[in-house]
Amino acid sequence: MTDSSSQNNNPKANKTTDSKSNRQYRKPRSKLSNRLFLAAISVSVFIGILLSGTQILFDAKASRQELNQQFQSILGMVTDSATQAIYQLDKTMASQVIDGLFENPSVSYAGIMHYDGIALTERHRQLPRTAYEPISQLIFGEALTYTFPLQHKQITYLDAKDSKAAKESIELYGHMIVTINPSLATESFINRASFLLLGGLVQSVCYGLALYFLFQFLITRPMTRIIKNLEDVNPNQPTFVALNIPKGHEDDEIGTWIKKVNGLFEAVKKYYGERLIAEAHVEHLSNYDLLTELPNRRLLIKHLEQTIAESNEKDQPFALLCCALDDFNAVNLLHSYHTGDKILLMLAERLRETIGNKSQLARLGGDMFALIVPNITPNNELKEIANKLLETIHLPFNIDQHSIQISASLGITCYPDDGINAETLLKNSENVMQLAKAQGGHGYEFYEQSVGERLRDTKLLEKSLSLVVQNEELQLEFQPQVLLATQQIIGVEALVRWHHPKRGLISPSEFIPIAENNQTIIKIGDWVLEQACRTLEFWKSVSPTAENFTISVNVSAVQLHYSDLVKRITYLIQRYKINPWQLVLEITETAVMSNVDSAIDILSGLKETGVQIAIDDFGTGHSSLSYIKQMPLDKIKIDGSFVHDIMNDTNNATIVNAIIQLGHSLNYTVIAEGTETQAQVEYLSDCGCDIAQGYYFYKPLKATELLRVVKQQSIKPVTNLVLDEDMTIPGLHRSVFDISNVN
Ligand code: C2E
Ligand code: CA
Ligand code: CA
Repeated sequence: MTDSSSQNNNPKANKTTDSKSNRQYRKPRSKLSNRLFLAAISVSVFIGILLSGTQILFDAKASRQELNQQFQSILGMVTDSATQAIYQLDKTMASQVIDGLFENPSVSYAGIMHYDGIALTERHRQLPRTAYEPISQLIFGEALTYTFPLQHKQITYLDAKDSKAAKESIELYGHMIVTINPSLATESFINRASFLLLGGLVQSVCYGLALYFLFQFLITRPMTRIIKNLEDVNPNQPTFVALNIPKGHEDDEIGTWIKKVNGLFEAVKKYYGERLIAEAHVEHLSNYDLLTELPNRRLLIKHLEQTIAESNEKDQPFALLCCALDDFNAVNLLHSYHTGDKILLMLAERLRETIGNKSQLARLGGDMFALIVPNITPNNELKEIANKLLETIHLPFNIDQHSIQISASLGITCYPDDGINAETLLKNSENVMQLAKAQGGHGYEFYEQSVGERLRDTKLLEKSLSLVVQNEELQLEFQPQVLLATQQIIGVEALVRWHHPKRGLISPSEFIPIAENNQTIIKIGDWVLEQACRTLEFWKSVSPTAENFTISVNVSAVQLHYSDLVKRITYLIQRYKINPWQLVLEITETAVMSNVDSAIDILSGLKETGVQIAIDDFGTGHSSLSYIKQMPLDKIKIDGSFVHDIMNDTNNATIVNAIIQLGHSLNYTVIAEGTETQAQVEYLSDCGCDIAQGYYFYKPLKATELLRVVKQQSIKPVTNLVLDEDMTIPGLHRSVFDISNVN
């Protein structure tokens, strides 16, 4: 069978050619039965000839003896007459004897000779040639010559009375010579031999033919049927075709052979089935993510290539969104990898539901997903999708009685503007996503030409961040917090600044997310905490007012979850001799809500050191009241974005009011940040907000400036504050009003 697959690269074509060739039964070029027939007939002819030849040889020997005897007796019969003729020199009698001998048709010569060799009489005869002469000559020779002595036996009696006393003497007169042609004499032998030979040959041929039919019947026919049966088996798809055992062959070698082959087929089928399953499995593994069953990076590239082709055809642009979760490691660390996996599974389901059937979702690995959004035109539509995705991802996951909240960063690229092939598009989309992550996460970025450059900058910043503490490039500024009821500064928020040797001042909004990404925030956070405590110690040493100051320090989620804050704070409080309540840790609502249970644990631990805890950026992190109630909090800081629009957006005004009421109901102090205008301050005061922080009062100040401001404004010590009987500021630390606390 020709290997069609090697000549044809089209698998479909191969299949048809294969199956076609499989069904065409081709007669074998040489038949086993023919060869057996030839062998059998040759052997039997050879044996036939050998046996007949031997028989003929024996027969020839016997015929020759018979011929000798025959002529001996013929000659014997005429010896007396011949002896008499030569004795009497009677030619007539001699001729009569010779004629008598010539009666025999095989005699070609006969003569009666004197003992000296002179013929008394002789006769020749030309005999006709026979067909068997060559064979006869071969066996008996060309001619057979018999010489018979013509003699007279004479008895001389030595004693007349005794007959036994006699002497015998022989007198030779001559010879009688007869030559015969054996081919005439042995005609019957030749006939017999021919018959023998022919009979042997016919017998051999009959044997041969009988064998041929036997082989044909016993071997060739069943084998041909088996071969036809075998031809139905497609080697590329060896579905099991059981070979039939020809009737009567159930227990012989053919039957056994077929049973073995069938067993082999069954094994091949089983192996083939297993191989198909394994191949399908490998194919699936190489294209799909094990956990979520979503297409993996490999398949995504294929889908992207298809989408690019379709997009070119229809002239319709599409978008590729890369999505990475922010600090997903924390989930694995604070809960378990099992929980992490569950979240990824639920997230995949959520994303699938959100994007619908038109878009294609894939998992790029780890906490990274990608989706292809076809037929996209205006960026607004993409922004809408991105926001919807961010919202969906940010909704809490309830797993094993835990509520876990995560956020993500999205990188968005559009075909054909942001990359002309799948690889470039994906790479750009991943880069821009990294940039979105570096911006602080929970946001999206569109690709633009400068992304590469910005990413390089970020990488450079990331590198220099690790040396920022060591190189003393950090500095703290302090933004006063004003008690609205008295308009007095009652505390400050410490805000870090980075003086980059080449780039100058870098905002914390730019470098804190990068530091959180590469964990250098722990080192930076430690420095900030110590620096804040040291500054407070300094203020206290120069101004008694500072005794009642609180100093708020921002603590990042990474710091909260990955460093031993309790130990550090206990040490700092002792080292700088500050009242624990004077230190306020500001933790963003998102950091708390991402891992509520562990946050409750950690915050409770921190609370035991005596420090105050404030929830920062409140209103942005989808807090639920039930969780807020469980937290050991002291203060709530309303996010600046709500305060910003308070006068133009009634929604925001309502939210701010609600937060203040909620905070008070839980006995927390409420701080409004980002207050820039008098109107805002008034509104906040009307709502009962306790403390305000913002440019309306002060911008962040250097430590010495702050001291000057405090002195210049001759702010009355809070202890002079006269409170009405019913005027309480919930959550505000008692010592702020407690005269006994002031030295
Ligand atoms: P944040 O904790 O919400 O801090 C308030 C931010 O609002 C500060 O920005 C402050 O300068 C700014 N701000 C204050 N009043 C106003 C105002 O009236 N209008 C406007 N538009 N902005 C105002 P800054 O200093 O750039 O800090 C940005 C963010 O960086 C902070 O937001 C905080 O999340 C983070 N950050 C600053 N210092 C640290 C730190 O030491 N550790 C950590 N983990 N994060 C820090
Ligand atoms: Ca803050
Ligand atoms: Ca804030």
